Amino acid sequence: MKIIVMKFGGTSVGSTERIREVAKRVEEKVQAGYKCVVVLSAMGKTTDTLIDMAKELNPHPSPRELDMLLATGEQISISLLSVALHQLNLEARSFTGWQAGIVTDAVHGKAIVSQVKSEKLLSSLKRGEIAVVAGFQGVTDQGEITTLGRGGSDTTAVTLAAALSAEYCEIYTDVTGVYTADPRVVGQAQKIDEISYEEMLELARLGAGVLHPRSVECALTHKVNLVVRSSFEKVPGTWIKEQDQMEESLQVRGIAHDLDVARIKLLGLPNKPDILAQLFTALADAHINVDIIVQSEHQTDQIDVAFSISEDEGEAAKKVLREKQNILGFQDMLFEGGLAKVSAVGVGMMTRPGVAANMFACLSEANIAVKMVSTSEIKLSCVIDRDRAIEAANRLHDYFGLGADAKVSV
Ligand code: ASP
Ligand code: MG
Repeated sequence: MKIIVMKFGGTSVGSTERIREVAKRVEEKVQAGYKCVVVLSAMGKTTDTLIDMAKELNPHPSPRELDMLLATGEQISISLLSVALHQLNLEARSFTGWQAGIVTDAVHGKAIVSQVKSEKLLSSLKRGEIAVVAGFQGVTDQGEITTLGRGGSDTTAVTLAAALSAEYCEIYTDVTGVYTADPRVVGQAQKIDEISYEEMLELARLGAGVLHPRSVECALTHKVNLVVRSSFEKVPGTWIKEQDQMEESLQVRGIAHDLDVARIKLLGLPNKPDILAQLFTALADAHINVDIIVQSEHQTDQIDVAFSISEDEGEAAKKVLREKQNILGFQDMLFEGGLAKVSAVGVGMMTRPGVAANMFACLSEANIAVKMVSTSEIKLSCVIDRDRAIEAANRLHDYFGLGADAKVSV
């Protein structure tokens, strides 16, 4: 069987008219001889609306009940698409997460898929049906309905592609692919034809938005051929594949930015071996995600530690730290909001020195102060003032030659 997985996001199934278009897209693949598994998101803004309704009744809805509620969104779109496919004289059957055999852990709201029992889907495909699966949801081995976190339908699609050894997995969305920067704010941003899993993973984690980071992790682990393309326009999308299958690798493939950053500085922490463990355990226990960490020693018996977090979590972080001030023993805490992170990503960085030098040169030419830096083998991120972030993204995009006429490596 030549199996493919096609996933359509919320805007792609936002109305019955759009669902009819999706049905036609699926029909084309069936005519081309593929066995199709179609994964859908909830229609339009359904998930947001459902969350708002729950929060109107209770500002802190129980995660179990919220999952029960949100899972209904995808159930609407899968049944409607099946109905539309029947109208085209195609055999189709819809499956909720549990009917599709998607088993997860029990962490409501951000469950992780532990197993796919694919027998039911396989027999459906063998019977000649199109299997239409609800994205973003699964079931625990106790029979509880879970969801995989916002944007999680991408992860459902890639997980099913891996479990069914699909030839490829298509993610249909409202943009034509992955771009060298956010095209809404970087006018020169170009569509990328192909990108490595590693680069895509960094971009997704750094806020590119077009793919759920966990779906890329899953594609990387299982070597799933993945393509992001538009459900509105018939143009080639972006292929995400193994680096060694790709041609020339650019020093920098893309620029990402994240506008929700704040920094906390703790001054005068005692310089003892377990102090960092104590500090970051306190934050982790409060479910606060820490991103960049910088430690500096200014006296032998004292250190300063600065770290970045999402500004949303600023109040919660400050509260935890104030409560622990006596135990941790720091002298002062400084909070700075209104920050952002701009990042350059590219596997070519591994072998080509000078990206950091170029990035700092570009930002300093524009007088943009760099407040924190973090690097990995294939990315470099700088924390800067939020009100300069869009400008910085545009400048870096130009500086690294990612605009319209840049086809060659820097
Ligand atoms: N409907 C869910 C959301 O809006 C899952 C998804 O679309 O991937 O987050
Ligand atoms: Mg999405």
